[in-house]
Amino acid sequence: MIRIDSVTKRYPDGTVAVDRLSLEIPDRSITVLVGPSGCGKTTTLRMINRMIEPTEGTILLDGADIQRQPVNTLRRSMGYVIQNAGLFQHRTIVDNIATVPRLLGWSKDKARARARELMERVGLDSSLAKRYPYQLSGGQQQRVGVARALAADPPVLLMDEPFSAVDPVVRKGLQDELLRIQEELGKTIVFVTHDIDEAVKIGTMVAVMRTGGRLAQYAPPAELLTHPVDAFVEDFLGADRGIRRLSFFPSAGLELSTAPVVPIDATAERIAAHDTADAPYLLVTDADGRPLGWSEPQDLTAGEIDVDRLVSHGRPFVAGTDSLRAALDCAVLSPTGWAVAVDEDGRVAGVVSQQAIAEAIRGAHAEGRTDGRTDAKVAG
Ligand code: ADP
Repeated sequence: MIRIDSVTKRYPDGTVAVDRLSLEIPDRSITVLVGPSGCGKTTTLRMINRMIEPTEGTILLDGADIQRQPVNTLRRSMGYVIQNAGLFQHRTIVDNIATVPRLLGWSKDKARARARELMERVGLDSSLAKRYPYQLSGGQQQRVGVARALAADPPVLLMDEPFSAVDPVVRKGLQDELLRIQEELGKTIVFVTHDIDEAVKIGTMVAVMRTGGRLAQYAPPAELLTHPVDAFVEDFLGADRGIRRLSFFPSAGLELSTAPVVPIDATAERIAAHDTADAPYLLVTDADGRPLGWSEPQDLTAGEIDVDRLVSHGRPFVAGTDSLRAALDCAVLSPTGWAVAVDEDGRVAGVVSQQAIAEAIRGAHAEGRTDGRTDAKVAG
């Protein structure tokens, strides 16, 4: 939908901010521009809505040169979100969000109704509608910024470090919310960040840029983590890319074992039936099948299982939905070395050993070698 074709931006002082950049930005997906400070990300983003004009090259929107379109028409098709939200301090939240619809000539009532609808969509309580920006937290203000950019329902959303000013927990919430909104709305989003973890988490495609405004690599996140093209990209991805790559492989292929699971009301026979050589630990569940903790079989007495004396089972992973990375994390944190898999309702689906997870990881490596990429981006 957006095609950047050999674009260069040279500022009047001679700085080359962007150097012969070419990118095809796919429709209805999130494309992330990432790289160290000063590598030309913001300049690139602002050339898309013509806040900055390129020195050379062309940018096409749906096949048409944006240079030939009136700036106002172009910008109406592109929502813009910046760090610290950039809200109008003297306007209420609802009127901030209603800004563009009002500029487009909507009645006050219609624009406000639209604004309230968007507040709900971005996860803002309606009680905040009449407040002013300074009465909101940073994270809430950022949600208002997203709602305002979406108000006129533009097909394109340009986002410049939108979540960089908030703390990590709020930031994660905003990222999850963006992914959820994107699933519902299917916008074409171009997202600038200097944070590679953010890029890998939210990007469908990730463009890694290097100083001097040159493109280092353009690929889906899993491919980037599997095959960085050079030392710069590898360095930029950081030390644990192997582990992070496992986020892109589902845990669905893991073979779960139900053998060492016993309910809290298990009979003595049932407890004794477990082959202790095979399963040195048993996982005790409540009457509904939810995990309570681990125990060695000899420490369990039928009818008298003391929940307080069980060894913590750690955080379970959701079988099939969570990634191989989540399963591995459970297993390495588990005192028994076994990860607990649960269904969507939190009931035990089975357990899986570190060894079985290691085998699945080897399978994931083989997959990476054969085709080098996967689009299977899964939760966790
Ligand atoms: P990023 O968003 O990746 O941090 P920018 O696009 O903001 O990078 O900047 C790219 C380069 O262009 C930097 O070296 C920056 O100093 C320079 N730059 C940005 N704006 C101007 C300007 N108006 N005049 C001269 N140089 C600029």
